[in-house]
Amino acid sequence: MKCERFLSIPIFMVFLLIGVVCYVTLFIFIEDWVGLKSSAGSLNALIFISLASLCLFSFFCCVLIDPGYVPASYVPDIEDSEASDQELKKNGISSRRCDKCSTYKPPRAHHCRVCRRCVLRMDHHCLWINNCVGYWNYKAFFMLVLYATLGCLYSTVMIIYCASYKDLEYSGSGGLKVFYVMSGLMMASLSIMLGTLLGWHVYLIIHNMTTIEYYEGIRASWLARKSGQSYRHPYNLSFYKNIISVLGPNMPKWLWPTAVSHLKDGLIFPTPRDNS
Ligand SMILES: [Zn+2]
Ligand SMILES: [Zn+2]
Repeated sequence: MKCERFLSIPIFMVFLLIGVVCYVTLFIFIEDWVGLKSSAGSLNALIFISLASLCLFSFFCCVLIDPGYVPASYVPDIEDSEASDQELKKNGISSRRCDKCSTYKPPRAHHCRVCRRCVLRMDHHCLWINNCVGYWNYKAFFMLVLYATLGCLYSTVMIIYCASYKDLEYSGSGGLKVFYVMSGLMMASLSIMLGTLLGWHVYLIIHNMTTIEYYEGIRASWLARKSGQSYRHPYNLSFYKNIISVLGPNMPKWLWPTAVSHLKDGLIFPTPRDNS
């Protein structure tokens, strides 16, 4: 059933892109530069293949892991829900009942129109993984962006090294020069796009925010300013606590997409108020 998610054109395009980048980097640029059989060539190929494999593994995790759906039996804690409802109303954020699912929405959950369900700690619905990015697959999504950025940067560096080694000004044919320049530009553009996305999610993680909450926060800040108050994102704990709430407390496992044993049920989230 989950495998059906792979039957989509954007996912096919991602596979195609990964395949083309790997082929070009390994069999054209590294091969042309030092040769895959040389020690420098095999070392660079090994580093690149490791990054590409981690990227592909994270991609599979993103597609196959359920982002986290609201259990049918979910009923909010009344005391907490009243306080939060007031807080939400004050900040102009939507109510905690989903009209479409006719169920209660836990804090940070949102209804996804594509998945037609409420998703826990929903970040956004991603076309490229044909799945929502939510509580259970957010770490895998972050790792996907991280490894894809590193892989693209590595590939760009390989192209630059290869082009400078071959000294195309003097020895390359016209067609070859165009191919090198086009490949270099494509990989550099891809690295910039992915790097920007990575920077965005690093920002969100260190502020313990989702993409939806960021945009809700803009509106809430504006409403708060209008009434002479200030707005603070309710789940912003501290720099380190925000990071470990996504990556986990065990630092050696920070870079592994499926190391999510620190996640609980995604129905309640600590706030600075809990510590005071
Ligand atoms: Zn819903
Ligand atoms: Zn969705």
